[in-house]
Amino acid sequence: MPTLLLGVAALLQAAVPGPRAPYWQQDVRYEIRASLDEAAGVLTGSQRLLYRNNSPDTLTTISFHLHLNAFRPGSRWADADSMERRRRYNDMKDPDYAFNHVRNVRIDGQPVEPIWPLAPDSTIVRFNLPAPLPPGGSLTVDLQWDARPSTLPRRQGRRGRAFDFAQWYPKVVVYDRYGWEEHALYPGGEFYGEFATYLVELDVPEDQVVGATGVPLCGDPGWERVNQIPDRPIQYRRDYYPNAPHYEARGNDCVPEGADGRTGGPAGAGRKRIVWYAENVHHFAMSLNPQYRYEGVAWGNVAIHVLYQPGDEASWGRGIATGRTATALEWLDGFFGEFAWPQITNVHRIEGGGTEFPMMIHDGSASQGLIVHELGHNYVMGILANNEWKEGWLDEGFTSFQTTLFFERQQPGGDGFLGSEGFITGLDIDGRSEPTSLVSQDYRDFNSYNTSIYSRGEVFFHQLRAIVGDETMHRIMRTYYDRWKLKHVSEAAFKEVAEEVSGMDLSTFFGQALHSVVLTDYAVGQVKVRRSGGEAEGRTGGPADGVGWESRVEVVRKGEGMMPVEVWVIAEHDTAVARTDGLAASAWVTVPTRTRPKEILLDPRLRTRDWNMLNNAWRRGWLFSSREPRKKHYLDTWFSERRARDHESEGWLPTAWYNDAAGITLGLRTRQNYFGRFERSLGIMSVGTGWQSDHDVKDADFFLRLENPVALRSPRMRQTLEGYNVEGRYGARLELEKVRQFHLGWGPERTVSGSLTWLQPDDFRYLDRGYYEDAGTVELLIGAGVTDRIGSWSLAFRTSATGGLAYNRRGLDGALGRTGAPGTYGRFTLEGSARRGLGRNWLVGGRIYGGFTTGDEAVVKQRQIYLAGADPLEQFGNPFLRSTGALLVRPDIFYSQPGGAGLRGFDPRLSTVGVVSLNGELERTLLSRPRGKLFRRVGLALFGDAGHAIRDGLIGRGDRLRFLADAGVGLRAEHRIGETSFTTRVDLPLLVSRPELAQDTHPGNDKAGFRWEFSFSPAF
Ligand SMILES: [Zn+2]
Repeated sequence: MPTLLLGVAALLQAAVPGPRAPYWQQDVRYEIRASLDEAAGVLTGSQRLLYRNNSPDTLTTISFHLHLNAFRPGSRWADADSMERRRRYNDMKDPDYAFNHVRNVRIDGQPVEPIWPLAPDSTIVRFNLPAPLPPGGSLTVDLQWDARPSTLPRRQGRRGRAFDFAQWYPKVVVYDRYGWEEHALYPGGEFYGEFATYLVELDVPEDQVVGATGVPLCGDPGWERVNQIPDRPIQYRRDYYPNAPHYEARGNDCVPEGADGRTGGPAGAGRKRIVWYAENVHHFAMSLNPQYRYEGVAWGNVAIHVLYQPGDEASWGRGIATGRTATALEWLDGFFGEFAWPQITNVHRIEGGGTEFPMMIHDGSASQGLIVHELGHNYVMGILANNEWKEGWLDEGFTSFQTTLFFERQQPGGDGFLGSEGFITGLDIDGRSEPTSLVSQDYRDFNSYNTSIYSRGEVFFHQLRAIVGDETMHRIMRTYYDRWKLKHVSEAAFKEVAEEVSGMDLSTFFGQALHSVVLTDYAVGQVKVRRSGGEAEGRTGGPADGVGWESRVEVVRKGEGMMPVEVWVIAEHDTAVARTDGLAASAWVTVPTRTRPKEILLDPRLRTRDWNMLNNAWRRGWLFSSREPRKKHYLDTWFSERRARDHESEGWLPTAWYNDAAGITLGLRTRQNYFGRFERSLGIMSVGTGWQSDHDVKDADFFLRLENPVALRSPRMRQTLEGYNVEGRYGARLELEKVRQFHLGWGPERTVSGSLTWLQPDDFRYLDRGYYEDAGTVELLIGAGVTDRIGSWSLAFRTSATGGLAYNRRGLDGALGRTGAPGTYGRFTLEGSARRGLGRNWLVGGRIYGGFTTGDEAVVKQRQIYLAGADPLEQFGNPFLRSTGALLVRPDIFYSQPGGAGLRGFDPRLSTVGVVSLNGELERTLLSRPRGKLFRRVGLALFGDAGHAIRDGLIGRGDRLRFLADAGVGLRAEHRIGETSFTTRVDLPLLVSRPELAQDTHPGNDKAGFRWEFSFSPAF
């Protein structure tokens, strides 16, 4: 080995000037001999590590990653998966899980014992050094190991004779200025490695096709046999590295030059040996599959090897994947600089998605976007090697950014920034964001980690680009690459380059954008428009030559976030843009224009991520200037609503419906929103024409709702205020609802709400006395609910408690015309539901409901507990349902709006003072076409409902009631039009226990009979 040690020393002599002290990195060389036992799935190896300590510290220990031990029960990875409900590796049995065992470890010839600092996790093993290693000192570690990937792939894996060897050998832990970076492998965080030289002798079955980091110095990787373009010579690049040892091919074997044979014996029958070599890489990955097809090409000095699977001919083959890899390389070369290595190998791995390794990308598809992303990692992660555990954004955010720019260049005019900005700012507003710069294991969960380092990380780079400008951004990229290639990078390294090249102090921006989640909001303050030259607007005197206008604009910072703000002045014939640094609470900007300013806009390109764009505009008017937000009107539909990030959207829709009192009713509906979440208002004006009506009531009605005004912004809180005078009822309603979910997109979602509702019936020509008594109600409701998915179960639970007051014109006491009836009431409901799939085609669901009211006498009719479905207040929002003779409540139309006790076969007017009920459905899917619009899924259902009165009494029928039940079959179909999903349901309650109370009473008094009803909602 002395020659090898000399090689390491020589490398050190040439140590580049470049990054300033105290940067250093260790010198590492791996020599690995490994043999694959395909049947057992185990790679057995012996390894020598040559290590030189370039740090200023004396080392007393050395540590290795055994990454494959993450994919087995009991690891921190497996536990993180289980805690996040991806129960996978904790359930794995032998021989499916992965491992990496070490044994016979000797340091400088001395046997040493393993220490497991993260036990029971075994992804880190540490050894005490037999003697301290001073700065400048070297040591040798010899060890033997077994490695097996898992059958459930995750960045590695095996299936049959296919093996994706990602992190498969004991890999020395990075020692940097923070010490030994001994991190367990977690689902988030990936890798960090020392730059090293790798010499890997691989013994595999003769027919294997192998792709790997580095070049094959000797031996047959199998490419020739499966080359799909046989007339194109394969570029092995065997002679690329002048310092590589020399090997001689002897049959299927490779023998070091000058040696007679080799220790460990020659390659066996039916096997072959391949020797791989790479320098200046911090990891060595491999992929093996005898079924691989090979295609190769070159881009400049870089050989491109593509290995794809049978069946990939049309998606990977025919030059597609090689061409896309070359396109990506060309783009990245222009973005950063020259590729640092001789080759790139792109393989179609077992798992979907993609993972990057130096000189190698493991891809689940050959899409251009994936290839640009993963190959981009060869630059940010591979060549500019960040600590992914600590600063994942520095590679994921970076490569997401460059991928977006790649597509921006393909489609000029596109703005990739807006793709992520609205999503991330929405999370900020909801208080659900975490900073981009957290250590990976500290994120709430894997979703939050991904969102923070990929999308938030990408947004950071877009904002930096906006601050420094395109040309400077390009120089930052090139300088960063030039200075730091093949080194360990960090936020500090990148920031130093960005500040040096741009000449700007970027500390506030880096601090906020990476380490905080504060919101940004700038507003137009005062505006002074005048003729330049000092004359104020409105003075007499025509414009002299060269005289223009000057707008003085106050930029007010209302949020904690600070970003340079663009001030756009749009004048009659020209537009000018100025910028302020956005740091001060108030700053004045002067913008000259040639012609008279019409409109002033702050940050119309959204680069500050201003969450409230409604205070960013100023407009000149006839008499007065206006600060009205920008608004766009459109013709609305029922099914989709427009949403915009930078202005209000207001949709208008003419509507029409019918009821017996006012006949054909014509209306105009307007709904408005900003950002899909704020200033949501709904207005409906309608006029009963009296046409086709017996009563000929000509009423003008209104319904107004305001929701979530910007001024009341509160994370995950919905505020609603309604007022109306609609079809014989008037009233108002105020509701507050808060939704909480700890994790991002999964786990229990808890809702707490409170509402105050007033409803006064005043014209019984509209009202069905089966629903309403002549009394107004005012009630206060407190509600709580939780929904969750646990395993394959979807669960929901909801409860409410209401205190109310009923009154009429004769006062509170006489509200019901019943003597002595109290005006106050209480109303309580409780509802739980569960549903799950059974196999591919079956669904089962159940619901339990309890509702009761208090008071010695029955509560007013409209606030009783309804047996068949929704109560009158729940029906109020639906113009096709709420009034007598409306389209869905006409004679012989049997509509069912779910709610109440859900005894669907019965008259929807039935109500009582207290009931408990059970509902069940069993459904079989007959048709499923998830990409369809109408009839995406059709199912046949069997259902049954049963309810029991808690206290005697069925109001309005002069009848006592204890028990009701129904059962039948039904058909459901699910549809999606625009952004609206809905279900059409036809149920046949063939059996009802009290036929005279059924909704459809045609079969007379037989309990069994053909009855029907329909709905636009699932039963529960
Ligand atoms: Zn990535």
